[in-house]
Amino acid sequence: MHMRPEAKPAWDRLTFALQEVEPDCLDDERYIADLLQNGEKRLLASICSACPILTECMEYAITDQPKAGWWPGVQLKQLDRKEAA
Ligand code: SF4
Repeated sequence: MHMRPEAKPAWDRLTFALQEVEPDCLDDERYIADLLQNGEKRLLASICSACPILTECMEYAITDQPKAGWWPGVQLKQLDRKEAA
């Protein structure tokens, strides 16, 4: 997996948190889908908003900006907007 060097600390915090928590996104293929219906997007966002490791996941996603998948319930373009806000 290619990772921005500056994202390594956030990745380490996320993987450490994953030793204690099994988030609801595990094995949910919607999180790796390219396209989702609006209802599915809202559902992912809802699941993530209740995730106990949302902070770690969000920090990693904003820092590394993964090019695929749904991280903390949003796609990268949405994360860019949140970061800029
Ligand atoms: S916040 Fe991250 S770890 Fe938690 S359910 Fe969403 S994608 Fe998974």
